[in-house]
Amino acid sequence: MVNEKLSEALKEIEYFLLDMDGTVYLGDELIGEMDQTLRFLREKGKKLIFLTNNSSKSNEKYIEKLKRLNLFGEGDEVYTSGMATADMLVERYPEETVYLLGTEALKEEFKSKGVNLVENGQPDIAVLAYDTELTYEKLCKFTTAIKKGALYIATHPDVNCPAPEVFVPDIGSFMAMIELSTGLKPIEIVGKPYDGMGKALMKRFDAGNNKFIMVGDRLHTDIKFGNNCGFYSALVLSGESALDDVKKSDARPTFILDSLNDIKNYF
Ligand SMILES: [Mg+2]
Repeated sequence: MVNEKLSEALKEIEYFLLDMDGTVYLGDELIGEMDQTLRFLREKGKKLIFLTNNSSKSNEKYIEKLKRLNLFGEGDEVYTSGMATADMLVERYPEETVYLLGTEALKEEFKSKGVNLVENGQPDIAVLAYDTELTYEKLCKFTTAIKKGALYIATHPDVNCPAPEVFVPDIGSFMAMIELSTGLKPIEIVGKPYDGMGKALMKRFDAGNNKFIMVGDRLHTDIKFGNNCGFYSALVLSGESALDDVKKSDARPTFILDSLNDIKNYF
């Protein structure tokens, strides 16, 4: 595999944005000696940020799992599309009121970041998240709010949430139902492959796009996200994609690795 420029790029890259399933673990198993690889990256001074589109869980749930697998170290962070949405709202709409269709965990997250959440009355903005505690009442509040003119923002686009044995509709399915009912689509979607999470991180760390690399196993989400943000990207073949898939996709990984463990060879 041709990764001639990877060693050069690693000199300027400071932030490793890491997909989780298929990239650092598979289900409940580490991919190779990933714990040692991540430790190596930390020792090289790289900041590790685990990224997920799932806005139904708080980042603590992910941190728990990563700690259990020995993958979470000092200075690491988990950043969800829900957190990115809250950061974006505080930055761009500091005064506006927000109705959040989301889990209690996400509501707490929004409040702690200073988003002006309201339960009653017409909000300025209505945010759709992956709400695993969805009720009909919440749904009607949401459709009413956007029909009456609230800005409609969604945390991410995934249609289903991968799960063993059961079939789990994610936020993209809610969007389809809301569109059929109201005729309205979100004016903005924050999560991968859109650039919202990337913009929020660049802002937060005050860093240019050449300081970031997105590492993931999916071309149409992880690598597209890297492309859309102008970040370096590395496709790892340890999860969903095979080398052949690259030719068929319009997503363009900057680098391709059998797994993230190979990165050590380029320092
Ligand atoms: Mg993945």
